[in-house]
Amino acid sequence: MNIAKVVVDVPASQTNRVFDYLISEKFLGAVQPGMRVIVPFGPRKIMGFVLEITNHSDFHHLKEIHDLMDVTPVLTDELLELGNWLSEKTLSFYISVFQAMLPQVLKAKYKKELQRLTEEALPEKLEEIFAGRDRMDYEEFLQRNGNLRILQQVIQEGLVEIHYQVKSKETIKKETMISPNKQLFFLEEALANLPKQAVKQKQMLLYFLKNPEVVSQKQLLSDLQTTRSTVKSLLDQDLLKESKQEVYRNPYKQENYPKTLPLELTDDQKQSIHPILRAIEKAYHEVFLLHGVTGSGKTEIYLQSIQEVLNRGEEAIVLVPEISLTPQMVERFKGRFGSDVAVLHSGLSPGEKYDEWRKIQRHEVKVVVGARSAIFAPFENIGIIIIDEEHETSYKQEDHPRYHARDVAIYRGKNHSCPVVLGSATPSLESFARAKKNIYTLLTMPNRMNKMSMPAVKIVDMRDELHAGNRTMFSRELKAAIEQRMNKKEQIVLFLNRRGYSTFVMCRDCGYVMECPHCDIALTYHRKNERLKCHYCAYEEAMPQLCPSCESDMIRYFGTGTQKVEEALQQLIPEARIIRMDIDTTRRKGSHEKLLNQYGRHEADILLGTQMIAKGLDFANVTLVGVLAADSLLHIPDFRAAEKTFQLITQVSGRAGRHKLPGEVIIQSYTPEHYSIQLASKHDYNNFFVKEMEIRKAFQYPPYYYLTLITVSHPNQVKVQEVVRTISQLLQKHLSSHSRVLGPTPAPLSRVKDRYRYQCMVKYKNEPKQKEILKKILDYYQDEMQRNDLFIQIDLQPYQLM
Ligand code: ADP
Ligand code: ZN
Ligand code: ZN
Repeated sequence: MNIAKVVVDVPASQTNRVFDYLISEKFLGAVQPGMRVIVPFGPRKIMGFVLEITNHSDFHHLKEIHDLMDVTPVLTDELLELGNWLSEKTLSFYISVFQAMLPQVLKAKYKKELQRLTEEALPEKLEEIFAGRDRMDYEEFLQRNGNLRILQQVIQEGLVEIHYQVKSKETIKKETMISPNKQLFFLEEALANLPKQAVKQKQMLLYFLKNPEVVSQKQLLSDLQTTRSTVKSLLDQDLLKESKQEVYRNPYKQENYPKTLPLELTDDQKQSIHPILRAIEKAYHEVFLLHGVTGSGKTEIYLQSIQEVLNRGEEAIVLVPEISLTPQMVERFKGRFGSDVAVLHSGLSPGEKYDEWRKIQRHEVKVVVGARSAIFAPFENIGIIIIDEEHETSYKQEDHPRYHARDVAIYRGKNHSCPVVLGSATPSLESFARAKKNIYTLLTMPNRMNKMSMPAVKIVDMRDELHAGNRTMFSRELKAAIEQRMNKKEQIVLFLNRRGYSTFVMCRDCGYVMECPHCDIALTYHRKNERLKCHYCAYEEAMPQLCPSCESDMIRYFGTGTQKVEEALQQLIPEARIIRMDIDTTRRKGSHEKLLNQYGRHEADILLGTQMIAKGLDFANVTLVGVLAADSLLHIPDFRAAEKTFQLITQVSGRAGRHKLPGEVIIQSYTPEHYSIQLASKHDYNNFFVKEMEIRKAFQYPPYYYLTLITVSHPNQVKVQEVVRTISQLLQKHLSSHSRVLGPTPAPLSRVKDRYRYQCMVKYKNEPKQKEILKKILDYYQDEMQRNDLFIQIDLQPYQLM
C-alpha cells in the first residue's frame, strides 16, 4: 500500500481527476485518506488531498509525495465520498468541493509547529529531537528524520500537538495559567515570612492556600485586583509556577448562558415531534417538512429532538440563515446544551472559525449551529440534521461549488440513516410540492403559541396617495401610525427591500408594470438605448412614453436606497430617533449586534433596514411593522419574485406583536391587488401555494421544470455574445426536443467590473445527457478560460438569476 491517489490544487478541467503518487519509506503508514499533502506537480510543489491509498497504479515512474500537511485527516471518509458526489452534481472541480468543506485557515499558507503538552516522558527518539524544548518546527522534525508514526501516536494520546501558524500569526490562542509550585505547607511558611508591606503577595498566597488549583492569570489578577508584578515576585521565589494553556477564542463573550429546560409541549408540537422522535429512535432516514407559522414553537421542537439525539450519544447539525444567526438565536441553543454547542458563521474571524471547527473535529461538541457551510461539519455519528427557514436562498452557494445545503443535508441524512427536518413558516415551493407528493413528510403547526393571533395586516394603496397629492414615500396612514406608537413609547420597524436594484418600470398612477409576454417577469430598463428587455428570453421593446394601461405619463423606473429613505423620514417626523441598518452601517464586525442592542434598549424609536432586519428580531416593544415598497421585491426580474414577496411579508409580520402588546403591519404597494400581497396579508400559505404553482406550470418554471443557467463574461462584448450564441446552439442541437433553450440575452447585471455578462437558460424536464454535454462545452472552452480571461459559469439549480 504505497500509492496515494491525490486530487491536486489546480482547478481546471484537465486536472480534475486523481493523480498517483508514491509514498516514500518515511511516510509509509502515516499517509491516510483525507489528509492534505504537498506533491510535485510539473515544476511546482502544490497541495493536494489524498483520496485513497492503494498498492497499484497504471502508471510508471511515479513521483513521491513531498510532505504531509496534516498529521491526522481533515476530511472523513464520508466527506470524501460526499465531495465526489457533490462535484458531479454541481459540475465543480473536486478540489473546490473539498476546500469548501474546510475552514479558511486550512486553505491559507502556513507553517507547522509541534507543541509538547505534557511533562510525561515521550518516546526516546522524540525526546531527543525536542531536546528539552516545548515547541519546535515541524520542518526540523522532518530534517532530523523524526518518525511520523510515533508522532501520530503521541498526538493521538494527547501528549503532543501540531498547530498551524498562518503567516506567522498564531491561530491557536494561549492563556497563561498560574498554580502553586510547592506543597502547601511551604506556601504557609512563606506567608508567615513575607514582610508586612507585601500585602498583595500575601493575599495571593492565601488565595492558593484556600484554593490550590491552577487558575488563569487573567482570572487571578481580576479576583485579587492586582497586577502581574505580584505574580512575578512569587514566581521568582519559586512559590508559584506558570504554564501556557490552549484556550478557544470565545466569540460569544457571555460564557454562561442561563440554562433552559425543555418546555411542556403543546398538542400541536407533540403531534409534530412524534414522527421525528420515532425516526431518531429507529435510526432511519426520513425528510420532514415542518410547516409552522412564526411563533408556533418550531425551535422548541428542534431543541427537544436534538436532546433525544444527544441522549443516544449522537450528534446534530442545525443550519440557520446567516442573518438569523443572531446572539438571541445562539442563546437558545447554548442555553439548552451549553458547551456542547459550536457556532459557525461568517462573522467569526478565521481563527475563531478554526477553533469552532476543531471542537467539532475532536468531538468536543455534539451540536453545531451554523450557516450554510456548517453542513460539512466533520461529525461521524449524526443523529439529526435541521434546516431552519429552509426556503432561504442563502442555503444555495452562489460560487464554486454551487451546492444547495438542503441537498447536502439530505445526502448526509441518508449516509447516517437519520432524519432531516426542514422548518419554515413559508416553505419553498420545491419543498412543499415534495411534501404534497409524500416524498417529504409534512408536519403542520398552524397556530401561534398561547393562542396569540397573527398580527393584523393592512395594505395601503400608494396610487391613492399620489392621487391625493402625497408624493412622499410614506402614506398618511403609516405616518399617523408611527406617530401614534411614538406617543405610546412603543417601537417601529420599517422595512425596505435591498437597495439599489431599480430596473423595472412601473406606472405610479395605476401600478401597471412592464412585463415580458412570454416569461411572466418584469422587463429590465436599459438606460443606454431606452429599451426594456427580458432577461430570460431576450424579448425587448421600446420604453413607452405613456402607460399602456391607463395612458398616464407617470410611468418610470422605480427604487430608492435606505439612506434616502432615512433622510426623508427624518424630514417627515423630525423628532423620530432612527437606527438605519443596511450593508453600509453594518460593515464593521460587531456593528450589527451593537445597533440591535441599542434598539433593544429603546435608544431609538424606529429601526429602518433591509432584509437583514426581517428575521430573528424579537423585541417585546415593537408593535408596528411597515413595509415601505413591497413592489420593489415583487418586480425583480426573477420568476421567484412573488414567492419572495410572500415570504418577506410573512416574515416581517412575524416580527410584530410576538409578546403581550398586539401588533400591526402596514404594507405600502402600488399593486396591492397582487395575489402574493393579498394572501400574505391573510397569512394564507396554502392558497398562495396553489396559485403560484399554477403560474409555475403555465410558464414552465420549477418545481415543474428544471432550469440550467449559463452565464458567460468577458471584457469584450462581441466575444461574450459569440460564446453564448455558440453554447446555446450546441445545447439546442444536442438536447432533446422537449427542452427549451432561451437566450442568449444580457444578464440583468449586464456589466460588472468592466466585464460584459450574457446568459442563456435551459428549461427541461428530463435531460440525462445534459451534464455530459455541458462538460464537453467546458472542456472545449478550457483553454480560453485559462488564457483569454473568459469566464463560463454553469448553475444547475439557479436561485440568483442576475
Ligand atoms: P418559531 O420558531 O416557530 O417561530 P418559537 O420556537 O420562537 O417559534 O416559539 C415562540 C415562543 O413560544 C418562544 O418564546 C418560545 O419560547 C415559546 N414556546 C415554544 N414552545 C412552547 C411551549 N411548549 N410552551 C410554552 N412556550 C413555548
Ligand atoms: Zn398606468
Ligand atoms: Zn421573456
